[in-house]
Amino acid sequence: MIKEIVEDLLSVDDRTWALYAYKKEPLRGRITFAEYFENYVPGALADAKRLAEDCRGKSLDDLVKELSLKVEMLPMQQGQVVYDFAIFNEPDTVQIYEDNARESQVIVDSLDDERAKVDICDMLLAHEIFHALQGKYDDLFVNKKHIKLWKLFGYENVSRLVSLEELAAMYFAKYYLGMGAVPYVYDVVMSMSRDPKKAKDLYAGIMKLREEVNG
Ligand SMILES: [Zn+2]
Repeated sequence: MIKEIVEDLLSVDDRTWALYAYKKEPLRGRITFAEYFENYVPGALADAKRLAEDCRGKSLDDLVKELSLKVEMLPMQQGQVVYDFAIFNEPDTVQIYEDNARESQVIVDSLDDERAKVDICDMLLAHEIFHALQGKYDDLFVNKKHIKLWKLFGYENVSRLVSLEELAAMYFAKYYLGMGAVPYVYDVVMSMSRDPKKAKDLYAGIMKLREEVNG
């Protein structure tokens, strides 16, 4: 079952993952998906590529030291609903839910497809390292305030698109670790051990988005 699901997810294209990110964007009412994909996604992916290039040759340990990060491995409470598998708390703390990572690793290790193989903790850490790097490089595209919320008497309130940061963090992990899959695939895999129904719904939702995008 999980093998077929992962096979399907491995073939999901970048445009579908962009739509998946867009659906989580709190400001999506102010921008169409076409605009999002054409005008914003390329900049986010360019950030991911640029930082992955910068980090080439450095291990995760090197990056943790260089950024003076504290990495905390936390247990997950029994029955806890999974929303995040890891968290970055500004300015310098990464928290990873170790139990869930370990359970997910068992699933990943049971898969035959080489493209799906990854060290879950490394992937989660790489994602959070992107957020730490965001604090270091103000000039990143994803750090720019792209959306004007209102303008009144010469005052403007502009906001970042948070979903773009997430998209960039995912692709950073993919590029930096040389992964065969976009890490969004593991949203489903990591939900599987705790909440199989949620995982299946998530999978079905992603397949629907793929249809929506590819007609
Ligand atoms: Zn994130």
